[in-house]
Amino acid sequence: MKIQKIKGTKDILPNETETFLEAEKTLRKTMAKYGYREMRTPIFEQTELFIKGTGETTDIVNKEMYSFTDKGGRNLSLRPEGTPSIIRAYLENNLHKKRIFQKLFYYGRMYRQESPQSGRLREFRQFGIEAIGSLSPQIDAETIILGLEILNNIGLRKVETQISSVGCDKCRPFYKESLKNFLESKLNLLCDDCKRRFEVNILRVLDCKRETCRQVLKNAPTSENQLCNECKDHFSKVLDLLQKSNVHFTLNPYLVRGLDYYTKTVYEFISPVLGAQDAVGGGGRYDKMVELFGGPQIPAIGFACGMERILLAVEKEGKAKIQKQHFDFYIVTMDEKTDEKGFLLLNELRKKGFVCEKDYLERSLKAQMKDSDRLGAEFVIIIGSEELGNNEVTLRRMTDGSQKRVKLSIDAIVEEIRNNYQEQHKN
Ligand code: AMP
Repeated sequence: MKIQKIKGTKDILPNETETFLEAEKTLRKTMAKYGYREMRTPIFEQTELFIKGTGETTDIVNKEMYSFTDKGGRNLSLRPEGTPSIIRAYLENNLHKKRIFQKLFYYGRMYRQESPQSGRLREFRQFGIEAIGSLSPQIDAETIILGLEILNNIGLRKVETQISSVGCDKCRPFYKESLKNFLESKLNLLCDDCKRRFEVNILRVLDCKRETCRQVLKNAPTSENQLCNECKDHFSKVLDLLQKSNVHFTLNPYLVRGLDYYTKTVYEFISPVLGAQDAVGGGGRYDKMVELFGGPQIPAIGFACGMERILLAVEKEGKAKIQKQHFDFYIVTMDEKTDEKGFLLLNELRKKGFVCEKDYLERSLKAQMKDSDRLGAEFVIIIGSEELGNNEVTLRRMTDGSQKRVKLSIDAIVEEIRNNYQEQHKN
């Protein structure tokens, strides 16, 4: 029986790897522009970290974590998201004592045992930011501006930003109460998951995607109307800054996000070209987590975006660049003797910085030419017995088939290209 990959995981083949690398380069460049520095934390942590950080009542912790007991009897989990690890590491390494305000980002694999579908995997990559230490609405706005810029730079053209405020410890209980009053009489119309959510974390009912539940929620009270003065003021400043920065957004009063820890601002980046799983990223404030992990009272805000989903959206928008291999040279040889010369020349060319390849299968001239074409080689260097006898090579430009005899020396080859093919020459 053939062993196959685990359901919900993905093999990333070379062309696609290059697309990821390109996106990752863009990501790091944009992060640096906004002052974010990368942090790398372990892929597994104590399960307790996520129970406490992500939240006991979330689907992620409740039913999606890959948890196991190691040989020391410790209960560990593969990380389902990045924020709890970053906050743990931030405190454990006393970053808050080094600089009061920290801008951190991460990029890496996350694990959730969800039902796989298009854009929803069990192993996926997320990048995310955490701006820790400021209560300023400017930071809320800036994270949204940064998120949109990264998505845009990676190649996504159509992104909708949805935003809301879930309030704070002071005003949220009132909102929960009014939602409870509204839903109590309609409980039998809700799905089983929502019936459970109604008991354990009523706000999550708002997040249900089932049409029957959405119908029930149509006239539900919104959080915006129940915010305390502080939250209201904060939210209106964030919206004002976004407007003044020409960021288009939609108010979505039912946006609660799948995680428990949010306070005040929450937002989501949506791609209209994706199907059911249309969120390419999301985030918000979480002013209580540092304290919850035993640290001082330090507010924070962040977002996380899914790389696979973004690249899927870029592809669906028809903007994906097809990654093609490129070689400066492909060396074609004829027999054992010329082949060894070819191998030595190949090494010399690589030392000079050229990207090159040869045949290692003793294939015919025709097959080697075909291979060079497949690899997208710009020039082919042919070393036949006649060429070798004259201490020469044939240099052939693949785009137009023009060719010339040149001395078998790396300097002569480089000079020939410099003189006659200047525009293509790279070194
Ligand atoms: P979350 O951490 O749930 O707020 O998700 C943030 C972003 O991560 C989402 O908007 C998606 O782009 C991505 N994401 C979350 N779960 C998955 C998954 N199972 N597969 C692929 N991407 C995901």
